[in-house]
Parts: sequence; C-alpha cells; structure tokens
Amino acid sequence: MKSDIQIAHEAQLLPVQAIAEKLGVDADDLELYGKYKAKFSSSIWPKIADRKNGRLVLVTAINPTPAGEGKTTVTVGLGQALNHIGKNAVIALREPSLGPCFGMKGGAAGGGYAQVVPMEDLNLHFTGDFHAITSANNLLAAMLDNHLFQGNALDIDPKRIIFKRCLDMNDRALRHTVVGMGGPKDGVVREDGFIITVASEIMAILCLASDLNDLKQRLGRIIVAWTRSGDPVTARDLQAVGAMATLLKDAINPNLIQTLENTPAIIHGGPFANIAHGCNSVRATRLGLKLADIVVTEAGFGADLGAEKFFDIKCRMSGLRPNCVVLVATTKALKYNGGAGKSEWQHENMAALEKGIVNLGKHIENLKKYGVPVVVTLNAYASDTANEHAFIRRYCQERGCRFALAEVWEKGGPGGVELAREIIDTLETEPEHFQPLYPDTLPLSAKIETIAEEIYGADGVTYSAAARTTLEKLEGMGFGHFPICMAKTQYSFSDDPSLLGRPAGFKIHIREVYVSAGAGFVVALTGAIMTMPGLPKTPAANIIDINEDGLIGGLF
Ligand code: ADP
Ligand code: MG
Repeated sequence: MKSDIQIAHEAQLLPVQAIAEKLGVDADDLELYGKYKAKFSSSIWPKIADRKNGRLVLVTAINPTPAGEGKTTVTVGLGQALNHIGKNAVIALREPSLGPCFGMKGGAAGGGYAQVVPMEDLNLHFTGDFHAITSANNLLAAMLDNHLFQGNALDIDPKRIIFKRCLDMNDRALRHTVVGMGGPKDGVVREDGFIITVASEIMAILCLASDLNDLKQRLGRIIVAWTRSGDPVTARDLQAVGAMATLLKDAINPNLIQTLENTPAIIHGGPFANIAHGCNSVRATRLGLKLADIVVTEAGFGADLGAEKFFDIKCRMSGLRPNCVVLVATTKALKYNGGAGKSEWQHENMAALEKGIVNLGKHIENLKKYGVPVVVTLNAYASDTANEHAFIRRYCQERGCRFALAEVWEKGGPGGVELAREIIDTLETEPEHFQPLYPDTLPLSAKIETIAEEIYGADGVTYSAAARTTLEKLEGMGFGHFPICMAKTQYSFSDDPSLLGRPAGFKIHIREVYVSAGAGFVVALTGAIMTMPGLPKTPAANIIDINEDGLIGGLF
C-alpha cells in the first residue's frame, strides 16, 4: 500500500473554480489562493440567504486508541461515496495545526484513498487563517502588556492575567516564561506562558461567530485579566476589538479545496477538542448546507466529548440541526476497550472484541438521547477478519441500530457505497427530533452533572474547593446560562484514561472551572490539560523533507 502522501501526489486535481462550479458557486464569489485553494468571498452570503438548507451528517467515533480511528478518513470517504452514487454532498472539516503535523500525528487530511488535497498545502500554512488568529491573539497580548507599562489605568492585577500569547507549534519550552525583563523601558516583569494557536479563545470564537459583527461582539467579551478589586478586564476595555477583527477579515471566510475524487471540501477553523469545542466553523457548516444537499462533518475525539460538544455547544448556539450521526468503530479500538494491547490489534481476538464492544453500545445509547438517527460504521483495516466484522454487524443489528462497513481508506468513494446508501435511507425515512442534552436554564453544576451521569455513566461529580467557588462566582456574574465545555481524556468515558470499555461506579472530579466569555461557554477541567503540547523524542519533523523539484516527503 502506498503512503498517504504518495496517493495524494497521484491525484488528478481540478482547478478550484471547477470545484466551486459543482456547488453552483461563481468565480466572482471566490478569492483564489493559487490553483487549488480558494476562500469564499463575503459577497456569497446575501446570494444564498434564502435557499433551503441541506441535511447535516455528523461523523463521530467510539473511544479511540492513541492512533486515531479514522473519523476524518470516514468523513472524506463518505463525502466521496455520496458523490459517487450521484448525490450532491460536500465535506466540512477543521484545518490542521502545525503542532501535531511536525510532532507525532503527521498530517490531518484523511488517509489512504479518502483524503483532502493538496494535502501539503492544507497541512502547512494553508490560506493563512492560523497566522491571522495568532496575530490577533498576540496583538491583544501586546496591548495588555502595553497597558500595564503605560500606567495601568484599569488597575489590572499583574498576578491575575489570564490571556496568553500563542504560537502554532508544539514547543514545551514556552509553557512557562517571564516577560518584560530588561530595563525600565522594557515593560512590566511578570510570569507568562504560551499556548498553541488552536487553544486560543480567538480560534473558538472564529469558529462560533456567525458574521463579522458577531465576531466583534465575542472578541470584545474575552476576559483577559482581573483587576486588583476582582473585576474582569475584557478585550473591549483594552480597545483592542477593531484591530483584532481587522486582522481576521479574511480568516473569517471559509476555504474551499477538494478530495482525491474532486468532491468539494469546505475547511475552516480548528479549535482544540478539550478546552474548546473541536469542530470546524459554524460559517463553514452553514455555507455547506446552503450549497449542497448533504454536508458531512466531523467532531474531534470520541462521541462522549466531540459529539456532545457538537450538539450542546455548536448546534445549540447556531441553531444547526443534525439529521444523522455516523458512529465510527474499528476492531482495534474495540479490542483496546476490551483490554488488548497494541501488539494484539492486528490479530483476531474475539474475546477482547466481545468484552470491548460495550463501549460501542454505550455510545449508541448516548447518541439516541439527542433524538438524532445513528448509523454505526466499521472503518475496515486490512488486518480485520470476517469473523470480527460479522460479530460487530450482528451486535448492531440485535440492537436495532443501522450498520455499514466502510472500506474508504482502501477503495475511496466506491468503498463507502454501503455506508452512503444507509445514510440516504436514514435521511429519507428517519426524521430527526434533535434536542440538546440539557436546557440553558439549568445551573452550571447541574449541567456538569447531567453530562457526567447521562453521557459518561458516572455516579456523580466531585468538585475541588476552587471549582465550587468559581462556579458560584460565574453564576453571579451572569454566565449561568452558558453551556459547559468539558475537558476530559478522550480515551475513557471516565476522567481516568485507563478505565476502558464501559466503566461503572466512578465519579468525575472537576479540578478547575473558567469561563471563555467570548466563545460563550464555561470550561470544566477534569485532569491537567495541556494547552501547549511538546514534541516527542523522534518528531515527525525529523523525516519531513523537500527536494529540488519541490516534492515534499514525510507528511504521512
Ligand atoms: P481521526 O480523524 O479519528 O483522528 P484519521 O482519519 O485522521 O482519524 O486517521 C488516523 C490515521 O489512521 C491516519 O493516518 C489514517 O491514514 C489512518 N487510517 C484511517 N483509517 C484507516 C484504515 N482503514 N486502514 C489503515 N489506516 C487507516
Ligand atoms: Mg480527525
């Protein structure tokens, strides 16, 4: 089997105008970034405003192994398969971050014969959105430090500055820094630190904003620090909003590229899936729904985090209504959930599979709570056996749950026909009755408990003293109606990554709580969450190279 990048290099790409034409979009409404990338101009919105929306299909997964279970691959493959059977479908995905690309995970454009191309461009800088977000973030940080230096009229407590500078790179050396060193003209000395760009609140804001106006309102609400008397200081207080929005003027517009089979793919934004909501922008999804009959989109991590936030944050805030959920399972993740280690994933192990499949069962139950029809898909690996496939199929059928095998990694669109037909049948015969898990009016702590008990299967929630105090404070400040953004391990329903399968008899411990006032959610942290990752001992960067002809290797 060829590597992802070899397959990508063999793709017959169409000019991006031809891809736009498939969506009925005129070249007038595109800003071209070379031959194969474009942004949709803002001129497109009034033209499509009155159109009927297409149907929204969310791709999510069971609790994964550290290797990933192929959500992006299935999203791309399903988009290709729907087009292959003559449907008008578009894909909506996040933009990859440079951090994981040069770190452990390599590129993030799908895999095998289900990829978005040109994959080098998508993985490296793309159309500059992350640069713009980084700049807007760092402008705000610079204005904050300048405010301190120029006399601190707002009486900001230098010990209570929350807002950090960011960089789109895995660089653990920047986690804890000191700024303002030097002489009297060099600023106010204080402890600081960097986060990765995808963890910036500006990334989450860009992905939830409906337009430039909403973007500005949200930017203005970002809490950057607290005053010595304990009041919040916002980006609006620092008069930073106009300049930040100006830096984001192009970044707010979704991007268009294509798959290996020339299926249109709208790619926009990429917030963290732990301290943020982990899916592409609302604007990209809305645009897709106006331009195509079906939008296939992905949410990060497993369904306990990704789908929960997609429904309870993104859909709640934007009014989007999902019509169907695809739940991706793999034999390796099911065996992993049944206790089998990495060396056993490549071999048939019915005992581990039978033990681990309860994880799939719990995710099916959970997704049904949102009133959205579910289709389980098995992302087929070459080492899978017919016995394993038959067992998983039977498990779903016995529970009255739809099932389809996806062989899109190996075969592209043609390998996803069974899944595509199942999706079409679902959309035609099963109406959605979507409702978020909890109402806005529920107190913040009750929202956390609802997620923990209903979705994770926990016996309850314990809070640190600090978390309790902050929750009360946030209710008092008027943030009680916000949804919760849970930051938890993706490997378990619990907050302990080693509790696999369908754990029971555990409690969720909330260590810390804070508000992302601009994004519009309250973040509840279970363990310690890393907002600036580091590189592994042998980073992917060691093998990434470019030759004299400009051919890039090592981006897998
Ligand atoms: P996720 O979006 O769930 O993190 P990805 O779609 O990015 O997962 O896939 C993770 C990795 O696994 C990628 O390198 C991809 O090429 C690979 N992969 C996905 N599906 C398969 C498959 N069926 N067979 C072999 N490799 C696969
Ligand atoms: Mg993915």
